[in-house]
Amino acid sequence: MMRKALLAAAVALLAFADAAFADPLKVTLLGTGTPTPRVSNFSAATLVEAGPEKLLFDFGRGSTMRLFQKQIPLGALTAHFITHLHSDHLVGLPDIWLSGWLGTPWASRKAPMVVFGPKGTVAMTENLTKAFAEDIRIRLDDEHLPPEGIAFDAHDIVAGPVYEKNGVKVTAIEVNHGEKIKPSFGYVVQYQGKRVVLSGDTKYDERIAAAAKGADLLIHEVCVIDPALREKFPSYKDIEAHHTSPEEAGKIFSEASPKLVVYSHIVYATVKPVPDVPEDLLVARTRATYDGPLLVGRDLMSFVIDDKVQALDPKGEALQPLVK
Ligand SMILES: [Zn+2]
Ligand SMILES: [Zn+2]
Repeated sequence: MMRKALLAAAVALLAFADAAFADPLKVTLLGTGTPTPRVSNFSAATLVEAGPEKLLFDFGRGSTMRLFQKQIPLGALTAHFITHLHSDHLVGLPDIWLSGWLGTPWASRKAPMVVFGPKGTVAMTENLTKAFAEDIRIRLDDEHLPPEGIAFDAHDIVAGPVYEKNGVKVTAIEVNHGEKIKPSFGYVVQYQGKRVVLSGDTKYDERIAAAAKGADLLIHEVCVIDPALREKFPSYKDIEAHHTSPEEAGKIFSEASPKLVVYSHIVYATVKPVPDVPEDLLVARTRATYDGPLLVGRDLMSFVIDDKVQALDPKGEALQPLVK
């Protein structure tokens, strides 16, 4: 009898372990671009799904549309994280906040919107609430939307643990996006022994390599600027100085050696703007310093992480990482 009970317990435990394994960490690139208004690369936004948690990192342009394409209700997002306060990471915030409150199947937020970000985040949410006061007044009065759904639960954070719920843990790491853009954060997401690292916007910074050492997935920014453009528009010199070249990124990748690296937040600027980022060029330059598995991110590319990391193209078909 005792033996039978033990056996039943062991079977139950195995089933539990199986169920836990069947609950992978999922990552979707919602926006792989920058302020450049490319239709193929909306600006920075990444979705991480871990059990019941749906975490959004940055609010790039068009992140509402990408979430709609994924059929994820805006109101279903459980927490939001901002890397830094550059506009290409924020212009989608008012849209997700206001549209996410609407009484519709694709929105329906009924609780305050949870937002973590660097110093200035709380002030920004207060100012947005003032800027959109008339819309809020009208919809409360006219559509009888719940007032809690348009409130913010915002936090100015420092580097360190930020969020821990339902087995997922989010830690902010400080990165170097230039002296005048401080603080700027990258994020580490851990769930059931799996680890995803987002670089945020950064120059070459070995702290990212340290955080991503042996990680499952490293999502890193990259920047290529045509020298002729720098001559015509000198601000591009400053922009270039705030980001990571493909060769520098490759050094970080070699040092960290994660299971897979993917470029997102791809700065590619030329005198005559081009509609698409030349992936071959990014890969070729990265290969000067890194031989391992690599992908150039595209909007709606996704990753399923359990005992391995499976990349999927925007249509959901399996994608093989590039190897040298
Ligand atoms: Zn930036
Ligand atoms: Zn940026």
